[in-house]
Amino acid sequence: MNTEINKENVLPETIEPRDFIRAIIDADIKSGRYESRVHTRFPPEPNGYLHIGHAKSICLNFGIAQEYNGLCNLRFDDTNPSKEDIEYVNSIKEDVKWLGFDWGDREFYASDYFDQLYEYAVQLIKKGKAYVCDLSPEEIREYRGTLTTPGRESPYRNRSVEENLNLFERMKKGEFPEGSKTLRARIDMSSGNINMRDPVIYRILYAEHHRTGNKWCIYPMYDFAHCFSDSIERITHSICTLEFEDHRPLYDWFLNELNVYHPQQIEFARLNLSHTVLSKRKLIQLVSEGFVKGWDDPRMPTISGLRRRGYTPEAIRNFCNRIGVAKRDSTVEIGLLEHCIREDLNKRAPRAMAVLNPLKVVIENYKEGLTEELEAINNPEDMSMGTRKVPFSRSIYIEKEDFMENPPKQFYRLAPGREVRLRYAYFIKCIDVIKDETGEIKELRCIYDPSTRGGDAPDGRKVKATLHWVSAEHSIEAEVRLYNSLFTKEDPDDVEEGKTFLDYINPESLIILNSCRVEPSLSIVKPGDIYQFERQGYFCADPDSIEGKPVFNRTVTLKDTWAKIKKKL
Ligand code: ATP
Ligand code: MG
Repeated sequence: MNTEINKENVLPETIEPRDFIRAIIDADIKSGRYESRVHTRFPPEPNGYLHIGHAKSICLNFGIAQEYNGLCNLRFDDTNPSKEDIEYVNSIKEDVKWLGFDWGDREFYASDYFDQLYEYAVQLIKKGKAYVCDLSPEEIREYRGTLTTPGRESPYRNRSVEENLNLFERMKKGEFPEGSKTLRARIDMSSGNINMRDPVIYRILYAEHHRTGNKWCIYPMYDFAHCFSDSIERITHSICTLEFEDHRPLYDWFLNELNVYHPQQIEFARLNLSHTVLSKRKLIQLVSEGFVKGWDDPRMPTISGLRRRGYTPEAIRNFCNRIGVAKRDSTVEIGLLEHCIREDLNKRAPRAMAVLNPLKVVIENYKEGLTEELEAINNPEDMSMGTRKVPFSRSIYIEKEDFMENPPKQFYRLAPGREVRLRYAYFIKCIDVIKDETGEIKELRCIYDPSTRGGDAPDGRKVKATLHWVSAEHSIEAEVRLYNSLFTKEDPDDVEEGKTFLDYINPESLIILNSCRVEPSLSIVKPGDIYQFERQGYFCADPDSIEGKPVFNRTVTLKDTWAKIKKKL
C-alpha cells in the first residue's frame, strides 16, 4: 500500500503530485473547493467479475482517498436488472477486500436512489426539460443523426408539462409495453455532441431487480443515474475512464438544471493489457461458451483468476502504481504485470524442488536402502525463512530436459560421461543410458562422489550445471498446470476481417502435466500456498488439490523479459 499516506489532509508544497488527477485535487484542496474534502467512489456495474482494469480504478479511487485522508465509497451501479446478478455483487466485494481496500459502512447501490431519481426526473419535466417520447428505439437512433449530420426533433418533443407528468406516471405504473415509450431530456438535437441530443433518461423494462424486486418497471439510464448518485453521496471527484469525456457536458447539464450538489468528473485512460481482453462482454463469452473453466480460471485477467493463478494483492497494487494514470490510451505489456509478481514472490515464496517431466536416475555406488536428510535453504533472498531437510536416496528423478545423449556445444547439463551437481546434494556422473525397445530413454545410471556432500568438491573441481532433483521413493506425485497467454495475438481486439477475438485463443494456453514429482514437504499444501520451484518458476497450490496429490498452477516462469527490456532502454 502507499506508504506516504498524508494524515493531515494537507499536502506539503514540496511534494510533487504524481499525476494530473492528484494535481487537480491538490488545487481544489488549496482553494477550499468542496470544503477541502476528498471523497471518491468505485462504481462497478454488477454484471460480471472484476478484472485487472478495474484494479487500476480501485487503486486510484481508494488510493487517493487514503493519501488525502478522505473517503471512498463502493457503489453498485445497478440500473440494468436484465444483466445484473447478486453473484456479481458478492464477487466484487470479495475482490475489492482482497485487494486490500475497505469501504467501511459505505456500501451503496444506485437502486437505493430510485425514488429520489424518479423525483429528479419529475422536476425536470416540470421545468420543461424532459418529455415522454413514443418513438421506438430504432426511430430514436435514426432521429439522433450522426457526427456529421444534425439530429431531428421528435414529434413528441413539445408535449405539455401536464401530459408528460401524466404519461411518465403511467409509465411507472406499468400501463405501457416495453419499448413503447421513454423519458428523454430536452436539450439540443443539433448539438455537436451526440450525447446532448435529447438522451433517453428512463426506459420501460419489465425485469425483476436483484434488490428492488418488481417495484419498478422503469429504470434510469446510466448517465442520469450516475451523476445524481455522485451528487447524493456528496462525492468530490468522480473519476472515470476516457470514454465518458463526451458525457461530461451531460453530467454537468443534469446537475446544473436541478441545481444540486455538483461533483467534478475527471477522466483518465483505461488500462489495456497485451495478449488479453478486458471487455466484460468478451470475458462473459469466454466463460459462458466454455473457452475457460470459469471466471476464476487462472488464464483469465479477472481478479479472481489472478488470485487463483498465484498473484498477490501487493503485486497487483504495485503494478497499478507503476503504470500510473494518464490522459491518453495506451497498452501495457503483460510482461510488466509478470515482472511485478516475480519481484514480490522472489522475496516471499519458499523454494522447493519439483520435477515436472521426470527421468529416473539410479546412483549405482549409493548404498541401497540408505536415506540421507540433506539441508536445503528455504529462500536465499531471506535467510530468516530458514532451512528444511530434503531426503536423498539411491534412485532419484531429474528433469528429462536436463539430459542429452548427444549434447550440442552449448548444452552444459548432464550427458554421458559428464559430471554435474545435484542441488544441496552431490556431484554425479552419468555412466550409462538405458532405453526401451522403442529407443526412448528409460533410466540413467550414474555414480556419485561422496566427498562432494552439500554440493562442493574438496579438490576444487568445477561442474558447469546444477540440477534440481527429488528422491524417487520419497517424492510425491503432483499435477502441474502450465499457463501461457490466452491469446496468440498481442491485441486480440484488433481482428482481421471475418474473424472474432475467439479465433486467436492460444491452443496451448493450458498444458496439464499429470505425473510430476515434488519433494515430500509439499504433501500438505493449502490452496493459495506459493512456492518457487527451483529453476522452473513460481507455483501456487490450487483448490483442486487433494490429500496426497497436490495440484499446482504455474503463476509465472522465472524468465523476466521485462527486466531485460528495461536494461536495454
Ligand atoms: P465494460 O467492460 O462493459 O465497458 P466496465 O468495465 O466499464 O464495463 P464497470 O463496472 O462500469 O464496467 O466499471 C467500473 C469502474 O471501473 C468504472 O469506473 C470504469 O471506468 C472502471 N474501469 C473499467 N474498466 C477499466 C479499465 N480497463 N481500466 C481502468 N478502469 C476501468
Ligand atoms: Mg462501465
